[in-house]
Amino acid sequence: MSHQYPLSYYAAVAPKTKVREPLKGDHTADVVVVGGGYSGLAAALSLAERGYSVRLVEQARVGWGASGRNGGQVTAGLAKGIATIDRLYGRQTTKQLWPLSREAVNLVAKRIKLGKIDCDMTTGVLAAAISPSHLEDVKHEADELHKYFNEPDYQVWDRAQVQSAIQTERYIGGGYDPHSFHLNPLKFSLGLAQMAEAAGVIIHEESPVLRVVYGDRPQVVTDRGTVTASFVVLATNAYGVGLVKELTGMLMPVASIIMATEPLGELGKTVYPKPIAVADCNFILDYFRPSPEGRLLFGGRAHYNGKEPADIKAALTPRMLRVFPQLAGVKIDYSWGGLIGISRNRIPQLGRLTPNVYYAQAYSGQGIALANLLGTLVAEAIDGQASRYDVFARIKHSKFPGAGRMRSTILTLAMLYYSVLDAR
Ligand SMILES: Cc1cc2nc3c(=O)[nH]c(=O)nc-3n(C[C@H](O)[C@H](O)[C@H](O)COP(=O)(O)OP(=O)(O)OC[C@H]3O[C@@H](n4cnc5c(N)ncnc54)[C@H](O)[C@@H]3O)c2cc1C
Repeated sequence: MSHQYPLSYYAAVAPKTKVREPLKGDHTADVVVVGGGYSGLAAALSLAERGYSVRLVEQARVGWGASGRNGGQVTAGLAKGIATIDRLYGRQTTKQLWPLSREAVNLVAKRIKLGKIDCDMTTGVLAAAISPSHLEDVKHEADELHKYFNEPDYQVWDRAQVQSAIQTERYIGGGYDPHSFHLNPLKFSLGLAQMAEAAGVIIHEESPVLRVVYGDRPQVVTDRGTVTASFVVLATNAYGVGLVKELTGMLMPVASIIMATEPLGELGKTVYPKPIAVADCNFILDYFRPSPEGRLLFGGRAHYNGKEPADIKAALTPRMLRVFPQLAGVKIDYSWGGLIGISRNRIPQLGRLTPNVYYAQAYSGQGIALANLLGTLVAEAIDGQASRYDVFARIKHSKFPGAGRMRSTILTLAMLYYSVLDAR
């Protein structure tokens, strides 16, 4: 495996950092965290802030996984809307889960402020409606948020309001959240890692964990070292499938792809007069936002076999031109992909495999805020404050049907089905 960051726009503009010392020899700690994305970094930081000695072991680099590659949209809510969570888990659970997602967004903002993390944070996210049924859903969500979730600022936009922010004919309206925001995800990961180190966490990079040994003092083992601890936190998400058999089948790694145009100059100012982030309401969605240099970062598609297409630019460009035909002919400077961990019910998974081995994963495409929160909740649980941890932990999850190739085939068929259902 290459330990270099993928050749993304994010890696091009993030500060260059030296590889941290790999794990060598035998060590002990109160807690050992496996995985250096937001889940692992948030857990490690929160534990260190509570006085625990923590080592974090990452197979590549901090933010090398989804946390350094994503669309950068830090949004409240879960991958499923309020109506669906009500139907699946009942009103009481929705009333606990949704505010936690807002808390997650606020937590990211708080950490950026506390750590003075320079990550291009910009406010405003639109859920864009393509079809009348999308707009109905947006209106229902807004109604709920206003009446029952203390979210008076959430707005329903009509076509003209959308067009005052982004110059496109594709959307008939949408739901605008002025308190959600977007950022450079890799810069944010690197900033979190610095905060964790400042709090005392020891981070090892280029140290793939080969196995986890359960017991009173569980241990993680790499090819050159071990860490034995009172607790293990597994935060490997879609990049760690197969590390422990108990989590096999709990999440499905799905490839999503992004590209960055060249800086668009004056054209950019007409295409997006306001620097908001947008994700449409389709199941297989498009998402995009401007960068500080006036590039358009455009992502989308979902590859349920977990593999990126060979030519990402060719796969995404028609989708970008469907939204912004005026961008025909612009140069694409960067393209890359990453793995999203999705759960069957699209609700994140948080739990314990044994009394001292925890995991947090499967944010189903909404993980910037939620991984930061769930990593923090794992720390709270370890520290003995389990009430908010229990809101997520008591949700029952089932495994994906089938295994191996068969499972991918079933999900690829499911993707085809949803792409037919999605408004064109
Ligand atoms: C293309 C793309 C676009 C996305 N867009 C958005 C968005 O706009 N908004 C949003 O909220 N979310 C988005 N997401 C999802 C979000 O990025 C993730 O939910 C979040 O980053 C998950 O963080 P994590 O720490 O759990 O996982 P990751 O960031 O994937 O971190 C897991 C880490 O574990 C390490 N690891 C795995 N196995 C081992 C091992 N054996 N030993 C040691 N280390 C190991 C990996 O190298 C990796 O660094 C997107 C994801 C992708 C891929």
